[in-house]
Amino acid sequence: MIATASMWADMAKVIGGDMIDVSSIVPVGSDPHLYEPTPSDIGKIKSADLIFINGLTFESWLTKLINNISEEKKIVLLTKNIAPITSTEHKGATDPHAWMDVENGISYALEICKALQKIDPFHEREFQFNFDIYKKQLEELHIYIKSRFDAIPKNKKVLITSHDAFQYFGRKYGLEIFSLLGVSTDADVQTNDLIKINEIIRLRNIPAIFIESTINPKIMQGIRSENNVKIGGKLYADSIGDENSEASTYLKMMKYNTDIISNALSNSSSDDTRNNIQSKSRWIIPFLISFYICAFIALYLINRK
Ligand SMILES: [Zn+2]
Repeated sequence: MIATASMWADMAKVIGGDMIDVSSIVPVGSDPHLYEPTPSDIGKIKSADLIFINGLTFESWLTKLINNISEEKKIVLLTKNIAPITSTEHKGATDPHAWMDVENGISYALEICKALQKIDPFHEREFQFNFDIYKKQLEELHIYIKSRFDAIPKNKKVLITSHDAFQYFGRKYGLEIFSLLGVSTDADVQTNDLIKINEIIRLRNIPAIFIESTINPKIMQGIRSENNVKIGGKLYADSIGDENSEASTYLKMMKYNTDIISNALSNSSSDDTRNNIQSKSRWIIPFLISFYICAFIALYLINRK
C-alpha cells in the first residue's frame, strides 16, 4: 500500500507494523504541493491495495494518475471526518494542512486503522491494539503541546512561517499565524504579503520567524535581514524529517515543532523581563543619590535652627 505523503505513511507503519508494507509517493523532504509524479508512481498506484490520501486539494497531482474506477476504490480519504479551514488570508482556498492539529492526527490514524481492518480482517485485533497505544501517545502529545503554549503570554504567541501550513495548529493551540505564501507553495511571494509581514514584525516586536524543511529558506532569510529578528528554527509541516533527524516520525515532528516554536517565543519573553528589570534598575541609583542629597539638606537645615 502507499501513502501520498510521509506523515500518513508513518502512521500506517505504526498501526500496521510488520503486517503491512507501506511507502510514501512524495519522498521525505520534498514539497508535496509542487510534486511531479514519476512513471514509477503510476506502477505503485496500480499495484497498491490501498492509497492513503489527505484530500482537501492537497494532492492535485494525484487526480492525473488515477484513471480508472478500481484505483478510485482503493483510495482512503483521511480527512473524511474533519471540518476543513478555509484560508481567509489567501483567496479563500481550502486549507489541506489538517494533520497539524494532533487531535485531527488521531482521526487520520483511526481512518487508517479501519481501512487496514477491512482489507485484512485476520489481523483486526493487532491493528486495534497498535492504534489504541498510538492514540494514547497522540493524546499525551496534544496535552504536552497545549501546556507548552499555555505557558507563553498571549501577545507573544505569533508564528511567522514561509507557507500557510499552521492554521490548524494555531487554531488548536492558540497561536496567531502569518505566512508569506498561501496554503500552497505554487505561487510567488506577493509584495503586499511581504510588506504586511515586515509591518507585523516591527509593530508586534516579533523576536523570531521560522523556515520550513520543504521550502527554500531564502525568502525568510530576506525578511530576517530587513528586520531585527532571528530565525527561530526549521519546522516540519508537509513532510517528516529523515530517519536521522529529530522529526523522523509524525509524533516526533509535532513535538519538535512545538519545542522549537515555544522555545523561540518564550526566550523572547524572558529577554523582555530582563530588559524590564534592567530598565527599572536604571532609576534606582539616581533615586538613591537624590534621596541622600535631600536628607542631607534637611538635616543641615534642622541643625541650623
Ligand atoms: Zn503545505
